[in-house]
Amino acid sequence: MEPAGSGGAQELLGELEARVRAVVRASSWWERRGVDCAILALSLLAVPAGFLCLRCENVLFFAVGIITLGVCHSTLTVKGSHLATHGALTESKCWSKFWTLFFVEVCTAFTADYASYGHVKMHHGYTNVVGMGDSSTWRLPCLNRYIYMFLAPLLIPVLTPLVAVERLREVQLRTALRTLGLVSLGLYSHYWLLLNVSGFRSPGSALVCMFVTRSLLAHPYLHVNIFQHIGLPMFSRDRKPPRVHMMSLGVLNLPRLPVLDWAFGHSIISCHVEHHLFPTLSDNMCLKVKPVVSQFLQEKQLPYNEDSYLARFRMFLSHYEEFMVKAPPITELVGLQ
Ligand SMILES: [Zn+2]
Repeated sequence: MEPAGSGGAQELLGELEARVRAVVRASSWWERRGVDCAILALSLLAVPAGFLCLRCENVLFFAVGIITLGVCHSTLTVKGSHLATHGALTESKCWSKFWTLFFVEVCTAFTADYASYGHVKMHHGYTNVVGMGDSSTWRLPCLNRYIYMFLAPLLIPVLTPLVAVERLREVQLRTALRTLGLVSLGLYSHYWLLLNVSGFRSPGSALVCMFVTRSLLAHPYLHVNIFQHIGLPMFSRDRKPPRVHMMSLGVLNLPRLPVLDWAFGHSIISCHVEHHLFPTLSDNMCLKVKPVVSQFLQEKQLPYNEDSYLARFRMFLSHYEEFMVKAPPITELVGLQ
């Protein structure tokens, strides 16, 4: 790779930003925000149908209900929360805050303040910087590779509200009460709807159903979170490269995968590099600027990391110790820090 000083890197980023800005300016509201708002609205509208399907004795309808609720849950909690915390759904600050609270606290049962701090400030601000945005929250070195890859994802719906409550120690009392109220509202209304709309007769069966729908896509969710950064170059805090190099080296795109494109969004699946460079763009806009970004990075001989889900899965199983247990080696880039 051609080494460039930080001045050169600044220029590179400026040039890329200008190209992407031109694409954004030429796009309609529908392309910039409408498509993703429509996907989220459709997912919200499909929720009542999902609860009603669970009333049916017919196994097929019941399965359709579980799949509908499971996919809608991921769409609202992963895609919705992610776009809302980045302010990618609306230009209005007030609505942005409203949607962040709705998607992160009511739907996901997590804390909006910590989601913004951990994801937007740390993970995006210090991508692959060891001890800051290095995805180490996803490491559980005490688990062996098979338990981590196959069973640990099932813990996500149970651990999410518990981690949220633990994080509340660090926020003001008012914020903590709001989060507790909204998280309880989300969890209780899910439970209430299963008893009163879906006709579940016992609290136990309603809780099992909540767990099944909330963990339906938990496996790809956990996998994708580790596949896209871990195993790529990691940097030290005081010698981190300029932004354009940090994102080009430390982020990986997966190919398009229809269910995950819908439920998690392009910015998490096939346009993660674009998302890290332009985090306020919606999923649909990330997809639209993808050819511009990939061509630019290739033109400037910068890495553009891409790999398939299956290849990453195999690599994580075979290099589990190296990627998920041992401390990652620091990459030093001569002339870039
Ligand atoms: Zn993000």
